[in-house]
Amino acid sequence: MDYPSRHKKFEQVMAERRLDGFVVTHPANLCYLCGYTGSNGMLLSISGQWIFFTDGRYTQQANDEVSGARVVIAKGPLLIEAAKLLAKHGSAAIGFEADNTSVAAAAEMRKLAPRKIRWKATAGLIMRLRIIKDAEELRLIRQAVDLGATVYAQAVKAIRPGARESEIAGKLEYAARKAGAEGMSFDTIVAAGKRSALPHGRASTQPIPRKGFVVVDSGVILRGYCSDLTRTVHVGRISREHRQWYEKVLQAELAGIAAVKSGVTAGEVDQAAREVLRRDGLDRYFTHSTGHGVGLEIHEPPRLGKGQAERLEPGMVITIEPGIYVPGKGGIRIEDMVVVTAKGAEILTPTTKELIEL
Ligand code: ZN
Ligand code: ZN
Repeated sequence: MDYPSRHKKFEQVMAERRLDGFVVTHPANLCYLCGYTGSNGMLLSISGQWIFFTDGRYTQQANDEVSGARVVIAKGPLLIEAAKLLAKHGSAAIGFEADNTSVAAAAEMRKLAPRKIRWKATAGLIMRLRIIKDAEELRLIRQAVDLGATVYAQAVKAIRPGARESEIAGKLEYAARKAGAEGMSFDTIVAAGKRSALPHGRASTQPIPRKGFVVVDSGVILRGYCSDLTRTVHVGRISREHRQWYEKVLQAELAGIAAVKSGVTAGEVDQAAREVLRRDGLDRYFTHSTGHGVGLEIHEPPRLGKGQAERLEPGMVITIEPGIYVPGKGGIRIEDMVVVTAKGAEILTPTTKELIEL
């Protein structure tokens, strides 16, 4: 990863905000700016220097992973160590991540830092860089997406009446770990029959019924990057109504992808998918937003929801995942990951979207 160029870009952001320094504590931001993946880390940027602090438990890991920053192993609280360093810098405005700092930690920072330090609460500044993926990140995301698709294909074979949802999820997660994934992006969703009407139906011990939809939503974390994939299959012979629902969700998903292009707003993409369902009165069953960004974290900006004004830019990686959830009957969701390009969208997910009847 090209950490020095990320540092340069962030130093520009700091300059725009009139910040002399910055304290990074959010784990995904630490990983993004210096490669560290452990816990209890803090990265300080001041006067063009980048210094990483952690404690003795992570000495080895910090030395192995941290790149582009000097590593300091602190004996006590990291803030005290950082404060000692800041004391040498006279008066300075230092930014911190308000969305990752507790009220107690902020009070502690004020207490420990030298008087001349002015703490400035900020939000989303590093995310502004992370939202556009560079070539190296896209390469890693493609690998994660491919692995996510492979393990899904293995797990789907285990779907049959009587098998428990948790068994399917377990097979999928085992295959992911066996193939080298560090973990799952989120708790695997396997929701069968009436439970498929739960948009976030975590795999339960319920057996797969003889007939109905099965929604499988899963993602792997591979070399730091997340994947996200949803497919819905049908067990037993599908009714005409259920087939129509499936076709409508698929059309909505395709319309969402077709709307993706550099310069359009996130809300316009959401609207394109929602409109397809609205024509058949199904939009009232579409109870979430159309998609979200994915990267080091499973849910990142931009959010593709109603009226979102943020404009898509080349290099953003997003999901398109409309669904309908009919209480008491069942639900369908279809989700792909795509990269925004100047002309449209490149679909990363290789998995077929044809209706599969098992
Ligand atoms: Zn998903
Ligand atoms: Zn998703």
